[in-house]
Amino acid sequence: MKSPATKQPPANPPSAPPAAGFADLHLHTLFSDGTFTPEELAGHGARLGLTAMALTDHDTVEGCPRMALACQALGIEFISGAELTAEMEGSELHILGYCLDLESPELQTELRKFQAVRQNRIYEMVARLNRLNIPLRAESVFALANCRSPGRPHVGRALVQAGLCSSLEEAFDRFLKKNRPAWVPKFKISALNAMSLIHQAGGLVVMAHPGLNQSDEMIPALVEQGLDGIECFHSRHTPAMSAYYLEIAARHDMLVTGGSDCHGYSKGKPLIGGSKLPGIYFDKLKERRRSAAGAAAPRPPSP
Ligand code: AMP
Ligand code: FE
Ligand code: FE
Ligand code: ZN
Repeated sequence: MKSPATKQPPANPPSAPPAAGFADLHLHTLFSDGTFTPEELAGHGARLGLTAMALTDHDTVEGCPRMALACQALGIEFISGAELTAEMEGSELHILGYCLDLESPELQTELRKFQAVRQNRIYEMVARLNRLNIPLRAESVFALANCRSPGRPHVGRALVQAGLCSSLEEAFDRFLKKNRPAWVPKFKISALNAMSLIHQAGGLVVMAHPGLNQSDEMIPALVEQGLDGIECFHSRHTPAMSAYYLEIAARHDMLVTGGSDCHGYSKGKPLIGGSKLPGIYFDKLKERRRSAAGAAAPRPPSP
């Protein structure tokens, strides 16, 4: 038996319950360019044993209430989110907003604007295809997308459905990739405006998949402006990339997030669960959210 002098303190004192499980905080549904419903996505999360999930559809939070209910029924923690396409100094970067107030009027207004831009862009892409004698109709893209936030994958899938391309890859390679003949640049909010929009809606700002963008040099300036975290774990990050961004996050005292960026069957095999965030990082995100909300709350009246 151990003597009291050598007795170790409990690894997890009752006041700090162990962070458990894994989270996937980067997921898309058919409210943008994913193929799963929120309920299907939550079901896959439960089967994979995820303990927390976030929905991050492009330019919309419409799927969040349904996803929250589906997760609740399955005992999975859920946080709301959205992914915005932003730019800084001419480079594109994707910004994730988490724990958003879904009723924020400013957020609702801006998301509606981004969605209108996306819908107009579909008409422009189809017009370019038509000029190339590809007889795709915008109506068939909207019917397939059946959402307010349509994008290039919907155009690609409509081309395949109409027998005008044999695969999504072919559609992107021939027409939709940057600088291909049907590509139309997308409006990008400035990174600083995206951050203030998310903060205004009570959310936390995270830089998505930095390994896929040329945005590393902007990190210090973004941190200055209130960047809260960085997506270190992502399906397309190598272990070396994750380690690199973990080090950057630690240097700037930023949150660490991660997720699969699953789009269902849109890009082949569903990626959900392919990149998992250890629960301890999810707990830190919630802690930061609580302290930010506490700091923003009005002070109680003095006696
Ligand atoms: P958009 O927001 O309309 O510009 O479309 C971007 C979406 O298209 C993102 O979700 C990407 O993952 C997807 N995407 C980009 N390139 C490709 C590609 N080569 N094949 C399939 N999907 C792609
Ligand atoms: Fe997408
Ligand atoms: Fe992205
Ligand atoms: Zn995404």
